[in-house]
Parts: sequence; structure tokens; C-alpha cells
Amino acid sequence: MTKIKYNTNYCFAVDKMLGTLAKWLRILGYDTFYHHHITNAKLLKIARKDKRIIITKSRYFHKIYTKVPIIFVHQDKLKLQMRELHSELNLTDQALFTRCVICNTLTKSIDKHTIKNIVPPYIYKTHNAFYHCIICGKVYWQGTHYEQAKKFFKEIIK
Ligand SMILES: [Zn+2]
Repeated sequence: MTKIKYNTNYCFAVDKMLGTLAKWLRILGYDTFYHHHITNAKLLKIARKDKRIIITKSRYFHKIYTKVPIIFVHQDKLKLQMRELHSELNLTDQALFTRCVICNTLTKSIDKHTIKNIVPPYIYKTHNAFYHCIICGKVYWQGTHYEQAKKFFKEIIK
């Protein structure tokens, strides 16, 4: 196992048992590969190819020798898992909601008028800045979920 070089541009490959954790890494803006059907061998291959840090709960990775950096998660609850990661990586929320939670693509700002029929009328009326994913089409805005995510992250790092 190689030592993890500390920086804020971490890329991750998260094992299939840790879907919620993968989602939260994307919410924080980290480039996170995740697929709920992938085998551990395939995950390792992707991590090696893209130079990603593997985040896993699987014992499979205990038994193999690999030059890919690996972080083992032991906790079951999301908040505690995030704390485990934070103690290793010193996570930040500086890029919060800059990445699509569904497909991991960086989001781009979009002209408000073009999404009028996509978002709920109340959201359209009360928000001005909208972002979208050019791959899957999901639209994002800085609503209450933004503040909730910030609050959640504060609880993790305290
Ligand atoms: Zn997307």
C-alpha cells in the first residue's frame, strides 16, 4: 500500500457497499467513481488507471498487494464514516455542490430562463443562480439542501 499524498484534489474510487458515502464525497465536490454493481477487481483496475484512492469496507483489499492507496472504513453510520475519512484526508467543503451527485460530472451555471419548466415554480421564483449537469441534465440550485450540507459537514469536522 502506498502512502497517500495530501492535497485537496483527491480522486476516489468507492466500493459498492459505500454508496451513501460516495454520494457525500460528490456533494463535497470530490471526483468520486462509484458504481453499485462493480466488482472489487474492476474497482482496483479503475483506481490504478485514474490514480484514485480506494475507499472500501471490503476485506478483499486486505488480502491483495496493490500500489494503489487505500483507506479502510470501519464504521457503519455515514457521519462516523465521514469522520474516519476526514481524519485521514482533512476534507474541505470549498467545492460544495460543484459536481453532479448522480454522475460525478462538474456542473455548469445555466441561464435561469432555460430551466423554467424543469424546476418547481416556487424554486424558480425564489432563486437566481442555477447549475446543471451537461451529461445527465440534473438541475441544481443553492436551496435549503445547501445549508443542510454545510451544517452536516461542520458536525463532521468539529
Ligand atoms: Zn449528472
